[in-house]
Amino acid sequence: MPNTKQPEASHYINGQYVEDSAGKELVTRYPATGEVVASLYAATNNIVDHALAAADAARASWAAMTGSERGRILRKAADIIRERNRELSVLETLDTGKPLQETLVADAASGADCLEYFGAIAAGLTGEHIQLGKDFAYTIREPLGVCVGIGAWNYPIQIACWKAAPALACGNTLVFKPSEMTPLSALKLAEILTEAGLPDGVFNVIQGYGETGGALVDDSRVAKVSLTGSVPTGRKVYAAAAKGMKHVTMELGGKSPLLIFDDASLGDAVSAAINANFYSSGQICSNGTRVFVQKGILPEFLARLKERTQKAIIGDPLDEATNFGPMISQAQFDIALSYIKKGIDEGATLVLGGKAHHKGGLYVEPTIFSDVTDDMAIAREEIFGPVMSVLPFDTEEEALRRANDTEFGLAAGVFTSDLTRAHRVVAAFEAGTCWINTYNLTPIEMPFGGTKASGVGRENAKAAIEHYSELKSVYVGMGPVEAAF
Ligand code: NAD
Repeated sequence: MPNTKQPEASHYINGQYVEDSAGKELVTRYPATGEVVASLYAATNNIVDHALAAADAARASWAAMTGSERGRILRKAADIIRERNRELSVLETLDTGKPLQETLVADAASGADCLEYFGAIAAGLTGEHIQLGKDFAYTIREPLGVCVGIGAWNYPIQIACWKAAPALACGNTLVFKPSEMTPLSALKLAEILTEAGLPDGVFNVIQGYGETGGALVDDSRVAKVSLTGSVPTGRKVYAAAAKGMKHVTMELGGKSPLLIFDDASLGDAVSAAINANFYSSGQICSNGTRVFVQKGILPEFLARLKERTQKAIIGDPLDEATNFGPMISQAQFDIALSYIKKGIDEGATLVLGGKAHHKGGLYVEPTIFSDVTDDMAIAREEIFGPVMSVLPFDTEEEALRRANDTEFGLAAGVFTSDLTRAHRVVAAFEAGTCWINTYNLTPIEMPFGGTKASGVGRENAKAAIEHYSELKSVYVGMGPVEAAF
């Protein structure tokens, strides 16, 4: 079995691998072939407790280190990830089915960028001094304590790093639960952090399904929960965290609009629409799946989009020439095909694709619908598959009103060569992350996150620091204390 990647054990706690075979079985398969990549066990109550106890015990000494000491370890981990990028990328491809062509540049590499970024700013985290006449106040930036990270399956190591790096830079400890579908790369991240010098217990990984995530969120030792997942899961996790008055970051789903005006560079707009719908076979939260195109350019836009999408190289994700892979799971494959059927039944025009790929496996063809109306399910609900809806529009006001008419607010994009219109449109978008004349670029230096039902809080950039630390205010009296009597 060339593609077997059985880890030493299922969980990584206190700087070492730990097993408890009493847990529910958790099998991960290569989506391209169905081969078993690894067989693991979900965490038992003992494992959950062991991980939280380790994170709790490691808290004080990790928080007492200086920011520059903590940062050095994160930056070293970033270097190790870069040295091992190919090996980590192959693992990610086996776990997710995403083309190696993508994972080599977008997954562990983004994780390394994030560790490097927060490693670099760890030493500069401060409170502030506030002069109040002769008195003064100052603030102390403190870690929150034990944090829990819960991941989705589409960007496993990236999500683990996007949570671990800011959490650890601020002096917190973390228990991370990857998605049950992609358990492997977070374990490698834990090994790498240990190799980089991270003290035992600061970063722990436990496997499990939703109930394991629930057990972590409910535990009174936990101060903060950061979830990347769907809106329904987000509602449950947010409610559970509220019971314990815990801090949250919610990175949830979307149904984002991409507005293309008739003065846009058409070639670039077509490229962006492709990236916004077919990268990672459409399994990206911020995808621009509602592509609004101004009527005058619609025929040419569709013709060019179809011609270019037909060139997708669908094949074995481990072959670096492949640029379009399978869906992660049978369930996600079924969901994508069921939405395609809904689109046809509701009267949208199928421009391209629409079927399972003839090579078998979990491949769904890149699919384009035109003549989509706002009330259709394919235009309202998150599909998380390679299904693009193209919707015609006449005016800017109309396009904006329709773009914002959704419960989601993760992302939005606009293509136009009119500078003032571009900024006017993004100012009116009800979305946390916007792009002008590009789409889906998420550098670590830029805050990322959603508004409305798509989430709470921001990951990356300096903004993430506010979500992994809190301020203690200290008032210092310098004079006599007056009292009424
Ligand atoms: P999901 O909501 O099914 O699961 C996400 C994680 O939550 C998994 O680890 C799961 O085990 C856990 N979980 C499930 N129920 C839980 C509960 N009751 N308590 C605690 N944890 C629980 O999502 P998914 O199918 O893994 O991922 C796809 C979704 O994630 C899509 O909606 C996508 O848009 C979203 N996503 C968002 C971002 C973002 O940054 N905004 C990034 C990637 C994916």
